[in-house]
Amino acid sequence: MIETRARTIDGKAAAQHVRARVRERCEQLKARGVTPGLVVVLVGEDPASQVYVKNKDKAATEAGFSVRTVRRAATTTQAELLALVRELNADGTVHGILVQLPLPKGLDAQALMRALDPAKDVDGLHPENVAALALGARGLVPCTPAGCIELCDQLGCSLAGKRVVVIGRSMLVGKPFAFLALARDATVTICHSRTSDLPILCREADVLVAAVGRPEMVKADWIKPGAVVLDVGINRLPDGRLVGDVDFVRASAVAGAITPVPGGVGPMTIAMLMANTLTAAARASGHADLAFGR
Ligand code: NDP
Repeated sequence: MIETRARTIDGKAAAQHVRARVRERCEQLKARGVTPGLVVVLVGEDPASQVYVKNKDKAATEAGFSVRTVRRAATTTQAELLALVRELNADGTVHGILVQLPLPKGLDAQALMRALDPAKDVDGLHPENVAALALGARGLVPCTPAGCIELCDQLGCSLAGKRVVVIGRSMLVGKPFAFLALARDATVTICHSRTSDLPILCREADVLVAAVGRPEMVKADWIKPGAVVLDVGINRLPDGRLVGDVDFVRASAVAGAITPVPGGVGPMTIAMLMANTLTAAARASGHADLAFGR
């Protein structure tokens, strides 16, 4: 029997808290004559993407937004998608555009991201938003790393002066989280597949973020006693179970607080998408006082 000492971080409750704040501000925006509008673009039939899009649609409806999913066949051309993005950019009722990734083979996701109006890029992947994050300027921040920061805030875990280690350097999670933590005055180490002595580096972390995509790679003895562990990974095992990048059961005996998978970081991603859409709508309509964050 493994002794549990960590607090399990309830991502569902934390996400509900964010979504309640979004709903409240949505009401206020509506009272000023603005209904936040989100369009999700889904290309092809990827089963996981279908589920994600359905969940986003449901969350946006619950927030009080106007939401629609634009579906296109996997055979859609890049030119057709670019034309769709331009049309949505020009539509004043649309404040947020999300192109569900990954796209079918042959389509260039980067080029589509560049075509988005950065003010409507609620995934925070347009180069202008990436640059804003690096510069500490106002922009839209990728939802998953923003959700990790929100979890720290709700835990009362200040990052100032802390050693933060991020495993993973993607533009979606690892790098933006590192910039967000740096902006909060953490001392940040970014690790990746070529990092030497990964367990030793991880053991230095007061806050450890795993965003790799390898089931239960992070072992209990990689964790500093009492550390906060945020597990971003979502991995499906052959037996159908979903697990994170951290060996949750054993890590729980060492960490101070840890997110489970599922029910940890995942729900925060959708909640932060709602927060980004609200922010985009508030700024675009001249009601920036209702926006979240910078
Ligand atoms: P990517 O595949 O883009 O990046 C994975 C990163 O992990 C890369 O930087 C890679 O290094 C690094 N890596 C791979 N193997 C190792 C290793 N053995 N040791 C150390 N580092 C390694 O993935 P994402 O960032 O998009 O996603 C990461 C995980 O998070 C996935 O499981 C994904 O499903 C999940 N996810 C969850 C979300 C949520 O809402 N909870 C949202 C987004 C993602 P290198 O750069 O050298 O290749």
